[in-house]
Amino acid sequence: MIEKLVIANRGEIALRIQRACRELGIRTVAVHSEADRDLKHVRLADESVCIGPPASADSYLQVPSIISAAEVTDAVAIHPGYGFLSENADFAERVEQSGFIFVGPKPETIRLMGDKITAISAMRAAGVPCVPGSDGPLTDDRQRTLQLAHEIGYPVIIKASGGGGGRGMRVVHSEAALLNAIALTKTEAGSTFGNDTVYMEKYLQNPRHVEFQVLADTHGNAIHLGERDCSMQRRHQKVVEEAPAPEISEELRNRIGERCAEACRQIGYRGAGTFEFLYENGEFYFIEMNTRVQVEHPVTEMITGIDIVKAQLLIADGEKLAYRQEDIQIRGHAVECRINAEDPKNFMPSPGTINHLHIPGGPGIRVDTHIYEGYPVPPYYDSMIGKLIAHGENRDAAIARMRTALSEMIIDGIKTNIPLHQEIMRDQMFIAGGANIHYLEKKLGL
Ligand code: ADP
Repeated sequence: MIEKLVIANRGEIALRIQRACRELGIRTVAVHSEADRDLKHVRLADESVCIGPPASADSYLQVPSIISAAEVTDAVAIHPGYGFLSENADFAERVEQSGFIFVGPKPETIRLMGDKITAISAMRAAGVPCVPGSDGPLTDDRQRTLQLAHEIGYPVIIKASGGGGGRGMRVVHSEAALLNAIALTKTEAGSTFGNDTVYMEKYLQNPRHVEFQVLADTHGNAIHLGERDCSMQRRHQKVVEEAPAPEISEELRNRIGERCAEACRQIGYRGAGTFEFLYENGEFYFIEMNTRVQVEHPVTEMITGIDIVKAQLLIADGEKLAYRQEDIQIRGHAVECRINAEDPKNFMPSPGTINHLHIPGGPGIRVDTHIYEGYPVPPYYDSMIGKLIAHGENRDAAIARMRTALSEMIIDGIKTNIPLHQEIMRDQMFIAGGANIHYLEKKLGL
């Protein structure tokens, strides 16, 4: 087994990785910024190395500092978590070239999936359903472009191939606006992502966000762990996630899940990954793949009983998947609320010291968080301070447990979005299930 591993992240996911390592007997090295000396996983890790000042650009994004931390501590592997360097192919390459195990896919897979056009063509070739579109970059041939949009049908969306984080996209409703919109998106994409390649897709008007979790080993085996619905979003940021997705039949789950697993076999995927789809009128449309563990992985763990982070570590160690597809059983329903240090009304970040903390409990409740009483939430990073997950025998039971857990949870000293979650858990449309990706923003009057 991997003897020692560097956790190249912070916050709740760093603690999650620390816990999985402990269970597997892997020694850990926490790398942290000057602002993060008091993080829970830093205290629990076998060793820790300060890698720079608070700003992420000077610490968590500093590739040489992370590699040297691995060198000086004699670690053999590096887990990138999510965010930061987790989907940076150059980082993965540097890790491997320096002789360490990267807990994630091969650098070339990250690169393939990081470019939306190459990702879509790889997925199309593997039989994964994609959004009808240009099937490649838009060219300078204006006539051809106008014709293409006409065939696809308005509205269409122009997307930057190198885009990410919900940026580099523009919806076009009419032919009159098309060429101008393409020019604008190209210019923006060039300056923001250093790549002005754009492509066109049909714009789906009221889709849901449904994604499939996969695991693939280095021996050619790949399985899916079913899907999650992450349609409750604000500014393309997920707020609440659940698994399984409402109204998805077992037949459809197996069909799309198997396509994803097959795509993994075809591209030689390694590790945990997520296929993100838009889902509308009973059809799935692939939009992108995330080549890392996701924030919302716990809802899948709760309904399948599989520890995804442990699976990542075992795969990185070269082991075969311990499960076949037929071993995967879905039990009950799980919901996750992302707890953010922010004003529940205007969403402004709310850093500060946590004076009092009461963590909920009881059957089916899981709390993934690094916060503790007296912990100062720093202003430098993402405002998510934890995740509350509720599992029940069915969706209603999971939501009822979530309501109870939210009513028990007390985080004093800073503002949090717990009131927003309480409102969502009482919302009739959410309770009915199957709301689309615009629902939450409309409800909030945004
Ligand atoms: P990013 O990498 O920036 O997150 P995605 O391709 O995942 O970009 O798209 C982000 C979001 O943009 C989607 O979750 C969806 O809300 C919207 N979107 C993207 N493509 C389409 C489309 N073809 N139709 C409708 N909405 C879309």
